[in-house]
Order: sequence, then C-alpha cells, then structure tokens
Amino acid sequence: MKDVLLIKYGELALKGENRSFFENTLVKNIKYALRDFDGVKVEKTHGRIYVECEKNVEEAIERLKKVFGIVGITRAKEADLDLEEIFKAAVDLMKSHQGKTFKVETKRPNKAFPYNSMEISRRVGAAVLKNVKNMKVDVHNPDVLLNVEIREKAFLYAGVIEGAGGLPLGTNGKATVLLSGGIDSPVAAWMMMKRGVEVEAVYFHSPPYTSDRAKEKVVDLCKVLSQYGRGMRLHVVHFTDLQLEIYEKCPARLTTIIMRRMMMKIAEKIAQQNGSLALITGESLGQVASQTIESLYVTNSSVSLPVFRPLIGMDKREIIDIAQKIGTYEISIRPYEDCCTIFVPKHPATKPKLEKVLEAEEKMDYQKFIDNFEEEVIEI
Ligand code: ATP
Ligand code: MG
Repeated sequence: MKDVLLIKYGELALKGENRSFFENTLVKNIKYALRDFDGVKVEKTHGRIYVECEKNVEEAIERLKKVFGIVGITRAKEADLDLEEIFKAAVDLMKSHQGKTFKVETKRPNKAFPYNSMEISRRVGAAVLKNVKNMKVDVHNPDVLLNVEIREKAFLYAGVIEGAGGLPLGTNGKATVLLSGGIDSPVAAWMMMKRGVEVEAVYFHSPPYTSDRAKEKVVDLCKVLSQYGRGMRLHVVHFTDLQLEIYEKCPARLTTIIMRRMMMKIAEKIAQQNGSLALITGESLGQVASQTIESLYVTNSSVSLPVFRPLIGMDKREIIDIAQKIGTYEISIRPYEDCCTIFVPKHPATKPKLEKVLEAEEKMDYQKFIDNFEEEVIEI
C-alpha cells in the first residue's frame, strides 16, 4: 500500500494550446517544492498529476498548498488489487475521519477485478465500520465520501484539501516588485506570483537612517514569498545618497513623491536588466498622501514599463487578511523604520502637479545616481 496525492488543476483546462506548457511547468514546480523529500515520484497521466510520497505526507501536503496552479489535493491510498489490501487502505484512510458519517462509492474501469462495484462498496463499508471507531453509514448526506477506483491498481480517497489556485509560477513571465518591509508590497508580490509571474525584488536601503534589521525584515519576507516559488533574487539598493540629495535640493512637500519616482526609475533599470516586463508595487488608492490618484499619476509618469498594483482597490483590512494567510504579516509588523518614515515631510503634497515635480527634479542631478547606483544582490 502506498500514499499518493492526486493533484487537481482546474484553470489550466482553459488554456488550449498552452496546456502542456502549463502542465509541464506545474510538474516542475511540484518537483521543486518537494526537492528535499526522499522517494518522491511525480507523474502526469490523462489530466491528472500523481505525487507518490513514501513518508512525510503531511509535510508534503503543506508544501503543495503553496504551489500555484493546484486547485485541490486529494490524499489517496494505492493498494494492490486484492480485497484485503483494499480494506486495509480504506481503514487507514478513514482513521482521520473518526466519528463521522460516510458512504463508499466505487468505480471499476478494470472489469478483470472479480467483484462488482456494489459488492466492493458494501464490503469496504463493512470493514470501515468494524475497524474505525464511531463511524456510521449515511448514503444520502454523508460527511465523508470514500471513493474507491479499481484500475491497474486500486485507488482510495476521501475529501479534497483546497490548493492555492492561480496559475503555475513561471507561466506568465517576470516582473520586478518594489518590496519595502511593510504589509502591502509582499501581498502585492504574492498576488502577481499567484497569476504565474516570476518575481524579483528591489529594496531601497538608506543606512544609517534605516537599520540592518530593517533590511533583515525584507530578507525574511523574501524567504516567505520564495516558498511559493522557486527561490527569489533580492536587490538591496543603497539609496542614502540620492535620498539626501532629494532632501537637500527639493521642496519639502515634494520629497516623498520625488523619492517614489526615483525608486521607480531605479527599479525599472533593474527590471530591464533581468527581463521583467512590469513593475509591481503595494499601492492602494487613497491609503496615504502618496497614494492619491494625482500622486499615482505623477509616480507612474516616471517610468515606461507597466506598473501592476494588485492592491489598488483593496481596503487595509482585506490586505491584512491576505498577509496573515500567506505568512508575511508577523514579519511586516516588526517595528523597524523604513526610509520613508524618516524623511517624511510634515505636509506632503496630496495633489502634486507633474510640471512642478519635474521642475523640482531639474534642481538635482539624479541621473548620475540612477546610472551608478550601488546594490547588493542576495539569492534567497
Ligand atoms: P508597504 O506596506 O508596501 O510598505 P505603504 O503602505 O507603506 O506600503 P508607501 O510607503 O506609500 O506605502 O509605499 C508604496 C509602495 O512603494 C510600496 O508598496 C512599495 O511597493 C514601494 N516602496 C516604498 N518604500 C520602499 C522601499 N524602501 N523599498 C522598496 N520599495 C518601496
Ligand atoms: Mg511602507
């Protein structure tokens, strides 16, 4: 008897010609997620992916719950075509459903097996009743449906564990996320990863105004995000000099928006070098002064790559819910300052005018900072 996981992947069915590319990428991502497991076999046969797993099945399921493109994971037992073996598998499987009502349903594509479906269901049901505590049969409205499939082997499964959904990572190109240590940008990155986008991160670090612990926070956030993908590259850009230049040369009320534009310009340069076709930010309309529609217009005008803002229409509460679900929240709320809070003006412009901002930017030589920025590249 063997543990097998049956992987369901709904949205892929819609993709026509690309289907095998999507399926192959999903198989690759599943193999990557389980790369350090012994004795794992991943197989694709007629519209299904089977994952064979000798041990640590629970842990394997936890990993697979983070693989985008998987809609559901069914924990199944594969048994030899022998009634006693099938009973054993059924009892094993139903132990985790003690105290519930159940019903057995059998399919028998392999007609060489000498018992018919009704007979198999009846006898498997009896074995479960005898060997698992407090079980009751309910054929109309069971808590658990125990499926038995008689193929070249017998497959038994009950219940589906919900997967992450979305599209397999790597099937929708690449984008570069501006990742601060805050709550929003990691969620934004995750949402784009969920749509199959491979993500590279840029963090703007301003020592000594921002501490090493602020940087560590971002590294830790990348570690969490990388669990949903296949590793991740983080660029830590040394931003202090440019930030001081802005602070010195530009009107106080425009420093935040100009700083944001400079971040975008540097991120765009990195994006162009790494093959990204878009930038990602954690902006949400109206959340703070730099996120009014006027500010977003001015920020957006600093670059020509498309900027994805998956949180644009979300409330803070909704963003926090996702952050908690994906495991970034606890890291994001660690109390280390980011560069924006230190250089933040008392009265930032909430309706900046692009001409005024461009005029202010003329007063400093930002191009030399953008052409020669220093960075540390960390492979997560
Ligand atoms: P977050 O929760 O992501 O920090 P926020 O609500 O604090 O966002 P802002 O400070 O206005 O919002 O930043 C808007 C966006 O700009 C962030 O979501 C992020 O994408 C980017 N950003 C801000 N600061 C940095 C930084 N130091 N490094 C990289 N990106 C940054
Ligand atoms: Mg922030």
